[in-house]
This record gives sequence, structure tokens and C-alpha cells, in this order.
Amino acid sequence: MSSLAPVLARLDSGLDDSLARLFDLLRLKSISTDPAFAADCRASAAWLVADLTDIGFSASLRETPGHPMVVAHWTGAPGRPHVLFYGHYDVQPVDPLELWTRPPFEPAIETRADGARQISARGSSDDKGQLMTFVEAARAWMAETGGLPVNVTILFEGEEESGSPSLVPFLEANRAELSHDVALVCDTGMWDAATPAITASLRGLVGEEVVVTCASRDLHSGQYGGPALNPIRVLARILADLHDDTGRVTLPGFYDALPRRRRRCVPTGTASASMRPNSSATSASRCRPARRGAACWSRSGRGRPRK
Ligand SMILES: [Zn+2]
Repeated sequence: MSSLAPVLARLDSGLDDSLARLFDLLRLKSISTDPAFAADCRASAAWLVADLTDIGFSASLRETPGHPMVVAHWTGAPGRPHVLFYGHYDVQPVDPLELWTRPPFEPAIETRADGARQISARGSSDDKGQLMTFVEAARAWMAETGGLPVNVTILFEGEEESGSPSLVPFLEANRAELSHDVALVCDTGMWDAATPAITASLRGLVGEEVVVTCASRDLHSGQYGGPALNPIRVLARILADLHDDTGRVTLPGFYDALPRRRRRCVPTGTASASMRPNSSATSASRCRPARRGAACWSRSGRGRPRK
């Protein structure tokens, strides 16, 4: 695209300003799981609304029962595709603080032992860095060309790290406004430190509350233990049976809606440790398509060592 070069040049020349904006956002302690930081979450949403408005989006802060959403539109490209960009401005808790080499909400660029430079701050790689990458790209396009090559709707939530309780109700309530041709979710990672990646799919999660009831009264373990079923034993059996030895989900019909070329996952031993209640789609282990010799790896947001 002929207009790409000047946009990239603008991004390069404005890198210091882009970093300054990102650092402003990183300083906000938007820990969604702790009510003590609710004001910081709201401040992050307000910061994004102001910044998107400044770029030229029609942006608004939208209330939910939890932390607010940020919705922004730019629809100045009639006839062109409509992209929905999703990100989240909330971050994970920072404890244990003693494992940090520097204060988590005082962003800085550090030089690693191998000479590479990296931003150190809570949320820099999940997901404020990613979402601001998109925002900065939009800013450069707008400034350079007066518009964007496609129509864009932006949706930022503030509860991704606490299970996104407001997301589905918000999507359902605003279905028409948030309709799109392509959804872009950049709550993902790089291929490696030097190689950007486009993640084609993420695994979703289902949460269920299961109640197992066995005996109708207390049973003496010495007299009944073993033959009488214990709810913990039953539950452990159910959980263990959810996957077979290759990591494949055993629930009948689970893969019915997937294309024929299915994916397999070989457990790495770390994936299960990262799964916990209220975890989100991004915490799931990711698999390459099954092929000879293919490896599967786990890159969990929650299993990731805290910086
Ligand atoms: Zn994330």
C-alpha cells in the first residue's frame, strides 16, 4: 500500500511520544480483581477515551455493573470492511512484590543481559502494550492520511483479568453497535522476542459449577470408606476423565462444530497449573495443528513469570 511508508515513518519519528503515552497508561494501577483499585480502572478507561477522542475517534466510557468499557468508532470509510479491535486495560495483581526488580507501576526501559531492551511494568505485555500498539498505528494513519483504511470499532474492557463478567452481557446489549466484519484480538504474544506474530486462534473456556452429592448422612470412614462413594473421589474421577492421554477433550460432541482438521494438544505439564477459576481465553494453552513431530507449548498469561 503506497500510503504505508509515510505512516511507518511517522511512527518511527514519533516513537518517544508513543512510549510516553504508553507509560502514562502503565502508571495507572488498573488491577481489576481488587476493589481498592477501582478508581485506577476507571481512570484508565477515561484516559483511553480521551486519547481516542484526541485521535479522531468517537469514543465513550460505558458503564457496566463492574469496571467500565471503552467503545470508540471511526466509520469514515464507507464500503470498506469494518474491523473490531478488542483489548483490555486491566492488569493482573502484582503480588508478591518482592519478586519484582523494580516498582511494577513505574515503567522503564531495561536492558537485558543479551543487550535487548524491554519495557518493565505491569501490563506492558498484557495488554496495555498491545492495545496501544493498535492505537498508535491508528493515530499515525489518521495524522498522515486524514483517515483509516478501514472502518474501525474499538472495544476495551476492564475485567479481562477477573473473568470478563460484563463482557457477554455488554456484547449482547450492544450487538448492532459492535457488529463488524473482522474481529482483531491482540491480547496475545510475540513469536519470540524479535518476531511479531499473528495468532490465528485462541482456546475458549467454559465455567460450570458442579455439585456432587453422595451419602445422605455422615458415614464413618472406617466402616464405610472405600465401598461408599466419596464426593471428592467422584469429582476427581470426573475431572481426570475430561481429557484423554493425548490431552484431547473427551466430552461427547465437544469438537462437533470444529473443522475436520482438528487440533491436538500434548500436555506440557505447565498448562494445567495455569488453569484456574475465572481464567480467560488468553490463559489457555495454545496448540499448533497436529502434525508429525509437532510440539505443543503452553504460554499462559497466568503461568508467565512475573517481571
Ligand atoms: Zn490479556
